[in-house]
Amino acid sequence: MTIQADQETIIVEAFINGQNVKSLSQLAKENPANPTEIVGYFPVTTKEQAVEAIEAAAAAFKTWKQTSIDERIMMMRKAIEKIRAAENEIVHLLSREHGKPLYDAHGEIYVSLMWMEFACNEAGSALQEEIKEHENGKTILSYDPIGVVAAISPWNYPIALSTIKIAPALLAGNTIVLKPSPYAPLAAAKVAEIIASEFPAGVINVVHGDADVGVELTSNPLVTKIAFTGGTATAKHIIKAASETIKDMTLELGGNDAAIFLESFDVHDERAMRRIVISNFLTAGQICMIAKRVYVHRSIYDEFVEKYIEAANRWIRIGDPFDSNTTVGPVNNLKQKNVVLGLVEDAQNRGAKVIPLGQILDQKLFDQGYYLQPTLVLGCDVHDPIVVEEQFGPTVPILPFDDEEQVIHLHNESIYGLTSSVWGKEEDAISVARQLEAGTTMINTAAVQGLDVRFPFGGVKQSGIGREYGVECIRTYTEKHVINVPKTLDLPYIPE
Ligand code: NAD
Repeated sequence: MTIQADQETIIVEAFINGQNVKSLSQLAKENPANPTEIVGYFPVTTKEQAVEAIEAAAAAFKTWKQTSIDERIMMMRKAIEKIRAAENEIVHLLSREHGKPLYDAHGEIYVSLMWMEFACNEAGSALQEEIKEHENGKTILSYDPIGVVAAISPWNYPIALSTIKIAPALLAGNTIVLKPSPYAPLAAAKVAEIIASEFPAGVINVVHGDADVGVELTSNPLVTKIAFTGGTATAKHIIKAASETIKDMTLELGGNDAAIFLESFDVHDERAMRRIVISNFLTAGQICMIAKRVYVHRSIYDEFVEKYIEAANRWIRIGDPFDSNTTVGPVNNLKQKNVVLGLVEDAQNRGAKVIPLGQILDQKLFDQGYYLQPTLVLGCDVHDPIVVEEQFGPTVPILPFDDEEQVIHLHNESIYGLTSSVWGKEEDAISVARQLEAGTTMINTAAVQGLDVRFPFGGVKQSGIGREYGVECIRTYTEKHVINVPKTLDLPYIPE
């Protein structure tokens, strides 16, 4: 799947039925910190190759589903060890193709491995069939694999959001066709290659490209489950494509997560201020589950803004992803940079005040890459696009609110509901949290700092359908199959 062409350039090929498959057409992946540098090349998989990958997965499923859970766990554990051994190489590739600083890339591997380990630890009991003897006879409940899973991942956490699908899908006895995002295809392909080396041919297949390949994966009748992470607009196309053959689906989509600071929040708590700043600008703000709008009780608003700027100027150091002093790297791609710039400019045109945050460590690098200086946006209307839309980049609006009822309403009127956070005295914060429409709400922290892979993660409303992480994620890759053995075979109300 990945071939080290020389020290600098990676060439990725599609991987179908245990073989690298050549493609006539290839695309270059540039380094967002230095777009003239090509990090690697990846193929545009044709429709025919996508079909081939799906057919290989369907053929492999026939034997793979018969393997024991213990065998699958053993293979996955070997893959985990291999990923761990290759961690530095993967992290460097991820930083170069994505733009996230090294510590952040290490963090992505850390979370990925934590999840894969957890899935291995839990799969045995989660997939254990249950046999119940009862007054009507006996019932066997088994967790059967679904079949061929199309796993489609986005660019912001390409490894974590691929392994989040690969591990439970394979442990549950399914086969998979993975399609990473064309904005970050290389490191995900490298990790998939490592995992695939431990599994039989056809169990993991990897294809590349964008919507054209995605449409084949989400409409082909042989695919029985779609595991998708990406934008809400894309999910709407996927739901339509999948409707013809009624596929099982897990959809992890966009968000417009709010952070709510209650009157009881201590603005002098420097660690808390650091946590909120990190939660706004980690991975240059390109995370589904970070605070994208901050509401602060009016009584502490002015002081909050002052302390926030202080904390941001300390923590945000924009620079080379390979410099250990850098906390914020470039935006991953030009398209996303322009989306964020457009929202900030629009806010400015509507009268908002835009405050640049942090220090630029290397102005020359900053000018050459897809860099954006993080910004704080003040004085917005609650319904301005920068407040209600997902910016997915390094900018955040901070708005005052007057009472809990108002802020709960503002939170819940969003079409999204992925995560949220409430900050202040714990019992006050939990009381507000209970009234929020979200998949996860964190108290006095936000974003990945509050993520726990042992519990289900996902969104409500247009932020998604279903959950990843947690024990139940493993079961979402199964169909419950009930085998009933009734004691009384003839029903009393049916006439003789
Ligand atoms: P995207 O929707 O543009 O692309 C995601 C994937 O879908 C890519 O692999 C892309 O090639 C593929 N795709 C595009 N069109 C397709 C189609 N018609 N059919 C099938 N596949 C298609 O999203 P993105 O820009 O890569 O990622 C950013 C979005 O992902 C944000 O909205 C973010 O909030 C969301 N996200 C959500 C979560 C979560 O857990 N809820 C996590 C990370 C990112």
